[in-house]
Amino acid sequence: MKKAQIIRIFLLCLAALALFSERSFSLDLSPEEKLWLHNLPPLRFSEVEWEPLSYTSDYPAYKGLIADYLEIICNATGIRMGFILSETWQEVLDRFKNKEIDLIPALALEDDVQTEVLFTDPYTSFPLVIVTRPGMDFIAYTHELEGKKVGVGKGYTSHNFMKNNYPTIELITTANVPEGLQLLSKGRIDAFVGHLAVVMDAIRKSGLDLRIAGKTEYVFEHRMGLPPEHAQTVAVFNKVFAHISPEEHNRIYNKWIRIKMDQTNYSMAWKILIGTGILIAGTAYWNRKLSSEKKRIQQLLNDLNALKVQLEEKNSELNKLAVTDQLTGLYNRLKLDETFRYEADRSAACSHSFGIILMDIDYFKDINDQYGHQTGDRILVCISKLVLSSIRKTDILGRWGGEEFLIICPEIDENGIMKLAEKLKNTIETYSFPEIRTCTASFGLSLYQKNEDIAQLMKRADDALYMAKKTGRNKAVLN
Ligand code: GH3
Ligand code: MG
Ligand code: MG
Repeated sequence: MKKAQIIRIFLLCLAALALFSERSFSLDLSPEEKLWLHNLPPLRFSEVEWEPLSYTSDYPAYKGLIADYLEIICNATGIRMGFILSETWQEVLDRFKNKEIDLIPALALEDDVQTEVLFTDPYTSFPLVIVTRPGMDFIAYTHELEGKKVGVGKGYTSHNFMKNNYPTIELITTANVPEGLQLLSKGRIDAFVGHLAVVMDAIRKSGLDLRIAGKTEYVFEHRMGLPPEHAQTVAVFNKVFAHISPEEHNRIYNKWIRIKMDQTNYSMAWKILIGTGILIAGTAYWNRKLSSEKKRIQQLLNDLNALKVQLEEKNSELNKLAVTDQLTGLYNRLKLDETFRYEADRSAACSHSFGIILMDIDYFKDINDQYGHQTGDRILVCISKLVLSSIRKTDILGRWGGEEFLIICPEIDENGIMKLAEKLKNTIETYSFPEIRTCTASFGLSLYQKNEDIAQLMKRADDALYMAKKTGRNKAVLN
């Protein structure tokens, strides 16, 4: 065919496929993909007669199951396509190699395209089926053909599949499907293996009384093929396929295949189709549904985790609040009581010693009276910080109440606790407080004695503090 002739027919086909240009559903296209489609010239494709998948007899019109999928692509993307007829499959491949066409609409991964090609995801699929004469049993597994003469199209996918997977089954090659069916009908072979849709159509046309007796485990997955520079087009096609619902796949099957089968009443073939074709064709759709469900669940899990973290933070804030004195930020009485019990238990179990210092600010009432309650508060905060920075890391400081503080000192003896109290006394005494300048405190000390009651320990510290106050204040007394 001359180049000018091809162009003329191509333009004719563009007109014939004008109906493809309407969009029917929206895709999630990236800005780059939209721009790519905007600049994409019409795609030229070629096919051979392959009923019911591909009808070329009304050329330049193109019909069949494959044409319906092309139409869906055109409607969804606005891509325009033009059909160029080929007489043989080799002609299709040559056109693709010579860049006379941009698209082969039906390919299998196993096909030898003879040049670089990008495959789309599968958009439809058919099993390889086993055809027999009437009266033969249902064939559940391909290996049941063992010991029988099995016909296959020479060089067909079915030929390679049988040869590679069932090397001991005797294969009789035929030039094409109709020839194979003739041999089967005449009893020269026991079964014929071929593509479901093609075999169905050939049986119908031949008028032979043959049956689909079962299917092999091989499934033809039909994909489209484009040249390497069309990676964006392939990505868009895949998005379209993923949007096609099982109902839509079903509709296309019904339109091109079911009607034909009803005419020939091949109920087994129909079951095979339902069982594999439609389910497999819908895989992309369900994968997309599943992946969006997966994303939604992942988002929910993320939200839940964020909530959990917030809850844990709030919880630890609450826990901290429960044991903290609001004004000074020191531990409150609750925590001090808890620490008391802990240290007493530890002493009983491991003969550790611990002591306590009860500290009371001297003449604090006078500070309040003279400078006001708020100044009194600030002095309390200031003294808290002073004491906190002067005690050991292991000591626990808390506000016992009012202007009284308690320090629990683990692992300490008489000498150590006295030194610590003197240090605190000096720190406060020598500190220059804002507004009031000077302030002092008195200290009552006691060391835990084995098996002593906490109340007794506290009482001894209280008595010591009383003594310190009574004997002049700003001093530490151990009891
Ligand atoms: P002493 O040397 O005998 O301990 O004399 P003092 O004045 O410190 O003792 P007193 O028990 O007579 O008075 C304690 C004062 O501490 C009375 C109370 O108003 C004050 N006070 C207790 N808690 C707070 C507080 O949270 N803020 C302020 N500003 N004052 C407080
Ligand atoms: Mg007091
Ligand atoms: Mg006081």
